[in-house]
Amino acid sequence: MRLCVLASGSKGNCIWVEEERRAVLLDNGLSYKEFSQRAKAVGLNQAFLKDVAVSHEHSDHVKGIGPLARKLKLTVHMTEGAAEAADQVIGEAQVKTFQAGDEISLGPLRLKTVTGSHDCRDPVVFVVSGAKKSVGVVTDLGAATNLVRGAIKDVDALVLESNHDLTMLLNGPYPLFLKQRVRSRQGHLSNEQAGDLLKEVCHSGLGLVVLAHLSEVNNTPELAKTAALKALKEVGHRPTLAVASQNMPTKIFEF
Ligand SMILES: [Zn+2]
Ligand SMILES: [Zn+2]
Repeated sequence: MRLCVLASGSKGNCIWVEEERRAVLLDNGLSYKEFSQRAKAVGLNQAFLKDVAVSHEHSDHVKGIGPLARKLKLTVHMTEGAAEAADQVIGEAQVKTFQAGDEISLGPLRLKTVTGSHDCRDPVVFVVSGAKKSVGVVTDLGAATNLVRGAIKDVDALVLESNHDLTMLLNGPYPLFLKQRVRSRQGHLSNEQAGDLLKEVCHSGLGLVVLAHLSEVNNTPELAKTAALKALKEVGHRPTLAVASQNMPTKIFEF
C-alpha cells in the first residue's frame, strides 16, 4: 500500500492512497494544475486514480474536486449532506452518495467511512484497507469519539490531525468566535488531543504516523511533533513520524 499526503491544511487537503495500480484520493482542495504538478513531482501515476472520496463539504476539502473529477473522469463519493452542500462548488461530476458507516469497495481497496465530529453537514473520516494493510485518515475532528477510536485502533498507518497548539491559539490573532469554533467538539484536534488519541490507539503494528492539517497560524511542525513524540514515549512505541505540509507533498510512504 502506498500513501502520499499531497497537501494538508486549511488552504487545501489532498491525500492519495494506492494499492495494486489502483488509487483513491481523499478530498481535493488543490487546483488541477497544482494537483498534477505535485503528483508528478513525487512520481504518482494519475492513470491509477479512479475515485475521489469527500470527508466533508468545507472548501479546503472540495474546491478542487469538480475540475479533477471531470478531467480524470473520477467517481466522486460523498454523503448526501456533503453532496447537497457542495453541489455548486463541484458542479457536473459523477457522484455516488454513501451513508456514514458504509464500506465502499474500490477494486483492491476498501474504503470504510466513519462518522466524525465537525461543524458541517455530515462529517466522515476514512479507513482505507488493501489486501494486507490499512491506513486511517482522521482530520477535521473536534473530538475523538469511541466510533473513531474503534475504527483506527488496528490500522498500520495513521494520518492524524494535529491542528493547533492550544496556547498559540488562545494567544493568537483569531477573533474569539473562531478560537471557540476551533476548540469546540465540532472543531479541530489540538496537538495535545492528537497525542491523547494516539496513546489510546497506538499498538505494536502501527508503523507510520503522519501529523496533518496543522494550522499555519496557531501551530508549528516542531510543536506538533514534540507533542506526538511525548505521547508515543509514554506508550513506549516508536512508529515513523512525519508531518504533512500545506505547501509540498510528503514522500510516498510504502507499507
Ligand atoms: Zn479542513
Ligand atoms: Zn473542515
